[in-house]
Formats: sequence, C-alpha cells, structure tokens
Amino acid sequence: MINILNLFKREKIITRIAPSPTGVMHIGTARTALFNYLYAKKNNGKFILRIEDTDKERSTKEFEKDIIDSLDWLGLKHDGLYRQSERTETYKKYLQKLIEDDKAYLSKEEKGERDSVIRFRNPNKKVKFNDLIRGEIEFDTTELGDFVIAKSEEEPLYHLAVVVDDHEMDITHILRGEDGISNTPRQILIQEAIGAKTPKYAHLPLILGPDKSKLSKRHGATSLMEFKKKGYLKEALINHLAFLGWNPGDEREIFSLKDLTKEFSIEKISKSGAVFNIEKLDWFNKKYLEELPQQEIIDLISEKMKEEGLYTSSNKIEKVIPVIMERINNLDDLVSMIREGELDYYFNKPKDYNSEDLIWKKSDKETTVVILNEVKKIFEDNSEKKTADDVKSIVWDFAEQKGRGDVLWPLRYALSGKEKSPDPFVLSSILGKEETISRINFAIDKLSND
Ligand code: GLU
Repeated sequence: MINILNLFKREKIITRIAPSPTGVMHIGTARTALFNYLYAKKNNGKFILRIEDTDKERSTKEFEKDIIDSLDWLGLKHDGLYRQSERTETYKKYLQKLIEDDKAYLSKEEKGERDSVIRFRNPNKKVKFNDLIRGEIEFDTTELGDFVIAKSEEEPLYHLAVVVDDHEMDITHILRGEDGISNTPRQILIQEAIGAKTPKYAHLPLILGPDKSKLSKRHGATSLMEFKKKGYLKEALINHLAFLGWNPGDEREIFSLKDLTKEFSIEKISKSGAVFNIEKLDWFNKKYLEELPQQEIIDLISEKMKEEGLYTSSNKIEKVIPVIMERINNLDDLVSMIREGELDYYFNKPKDYNSEDLIWKKSDKETTVVILNEVKKIFEDNSEKKTADDVKSIVWDFAEQKGRGDVLWPLRYALSGKEKSPDPFVLSSILGKEETISRINFAIDKLSND
C-alpha cells in the first residue's frame, strides 16, 4: 500500500559511489565520488559508499582500505557503507524470484569454466533513458542476448548486484563515468524485471591527459594516495577534480568543498572530455599553500624536513619560509630542494667547499681575504638587519666601490658554500648578524689556511 505521507515528502536524494576494490583509488573514481557527494549534499541528501567486491579473485582488503582512506583524506564523508560480499543472501532472494517468474533461468553451458550459469531472459526490446547530461539515449537490447547475471545463486555478477543494491538502497541518482553508458540498458532491463524504479543517470565526461588521450599512468601519478604522499593538499585536489567536467559558468576558479556543495549542479556538467593537468593542480596547490596559516606551513615543512633528516629543534624555519614558498608548488618540490642541498645552508654552516671557489673570477686569494675582512667589519659595525633590503643598504656602497663581483661573490659563497643560491642580502637577512659574521670568519680562515 502506498504510504500517503510519502506523497507529501519531497523525494530524498540518495547517491552512491560504487568502487570495485580491484585497484587503488584513482582520479576518475575520486571525481565520480566528489560529484555524487556534492549532488547529495547540495540537496540535503545522502551519499552511500558501496564496495563492489563480487569479483572475489581480484578484490582485496588492501584496495578497499586504499579507497576508504582516500575518501577520508578528501573529506568526502559517506552516510553508509555496504559491501556486496556481505549481501549474498539478498541477491539470492532476487535471483530465486527472477527464476520463479521465468525472467531468468539456469542455463546449461557447454563452453566456459562452469556447467551452468544464471541467464537473464532478455525481452529483446528498445530501452530508452534520459541521461541528465547527454539527453535521450536509446538502445536496442536484442544484440545483448540472454546475458549472464550470476554464476550461481550464491555468486551474483555485477549487473544484478548493482541493480538490486541501487533499488534496496533507494538510490535516486547515479553519476558515473561515461563507460557506464553501455551498462545502463542491461541494468534497466533488470530493474524492470524486479519491479525497481529506474534511477536518474548522469554519465560524466571522460578524463583526459594533457595530450587529450584517456588519462592513464603514462601521464604520471593517477592514484589519490600518491598525490597525498607527494604532499599535495586535499583542497587543491578537490578543486581540480571539481573542474573535471564541471565549471561554475563564470571566471571563478577557487572553490572549497563547502563552496562546491552550494554551487554544484548537474546542468553545468559538460559532455566533452575533461583534461587533468598536473600544472593546473600545481597552480591550485600553490594557491592553497599560500593561504594556509603560518603555523600550519611551519608544521608541514618541519615534518618534511624531519623525514629528510634536515630538522633540528633549533631550525629557524619561520625565517626561511618566504624563500621556500617562492620556489615550491607542492611539498615534493620542497623534498627536491632539501635533497639538492638548497636548504641545507640555512640550517648548517657550509664547511666542505673549496676555498678557491670563494675567489671571484680574476681576483686572488689576498684580495678576497682583505675584502671579506672589510665586509665583516661592516656587519660588525651595524646593528642586526632584518630584511634583505636593509642588508643591501649597508653593503651596497662598498660593493660598488670595490667591484660588485669582487665583494658579492665571496660574501655569497661564504654564506652558502654553493655555486648557486639566493643573493647574499637574502641569505644574511635569514641567517642573522652573528651567523653571517661567523661564516665570513670561517671563509677567511679557510682561505688563509688552505
Ligand atoms: N563497480 C563499478 C566500477 O567499479 C561501478 C558501478 C556503477 O557505478 O554503476 O566501476
């Protein structure tokens, strides 16, 4: 009997992400999850996570964990978790009923790995559905034949399990990848056979690499956890994922999960392929990095430095942050900087360089020692200088007078011990007066003793 109250209630939107744990969570599944999440949340609905692990040989708990961890990391909270492997009895009931109604039958097989399977009795008709993105789609299902829906009553296959679950879980909207289109007619036939309502479908555009071919490992990292490990911020990933097929219809680009929840709409999803571009992700990531509160940046950077063995409690990370932020898009770039020794000199005195490298082009050892002593005196005679410009203001005249290269090269080299580094004003402003003097002294000693 129809519950009268239900007639007055607006239909509650329920969406789902239905990954098969036969591989790690990749960009495509994450985009599908995000869109389903957004559509549900925008409409005060529910978002279900359904692990489709009917393929026992290929499904693993590790992949399931990767999927759950990835959704957690992105902050896409679900309102219910189901595993198809725990629902065998439910599918069995439906299979038995289908057989009883002669809508499916046990079929003896001559070829293949088993003697019998359960086949769906195909009514061989035209199936039409209205895709929310692509409009009306029609299929003639005749060529599908009596397709297999289960290996046995205890072993349902994908199409049957999906349809039963979408029905039992009251899924109202299915947003999924374009490759789902060809599955839809079979699923609609099964829905009709079990007396289930057909949910609304929205098939999302294919995700492409920058060369416009289907996104694959060839294009670099595609697994969510890889991006996490590389130090991307989840906000950047969410933002880029949202733009894989959707846009707000104006110039705005920066959207938090909360903003997206307000703005998202299926009408603004495009039919044409969406390009996943690592440079765009880097761009988003830099934007979000720059917006983090100082303390969070310090924590993130300290953590990476600890991992790379470049951290001591006395590291004055705050001072180096502007230099770091200017040069990185993501924390992986920071790791490269650390590994290439581009941060070392902010925290450790450079010692292992060759004293000859302190000498500018045609200059010589004696002149360099004299110049370094004079620069040292300038630092000693002046108060602590906090900015690069302030340091420059006390050294510049002297450098002009003696020759810029003759002064600035040995000074910079004494401070960094490297062929390449930021200019000596930046270095000294970060190191401070005392450390600057100490490093100049070390360079003078090295020149005098080598
Ligand atoms: N389990 C299917 C997959 O991993 C998705 C099912 C669906 O979205 O209908 O691709």
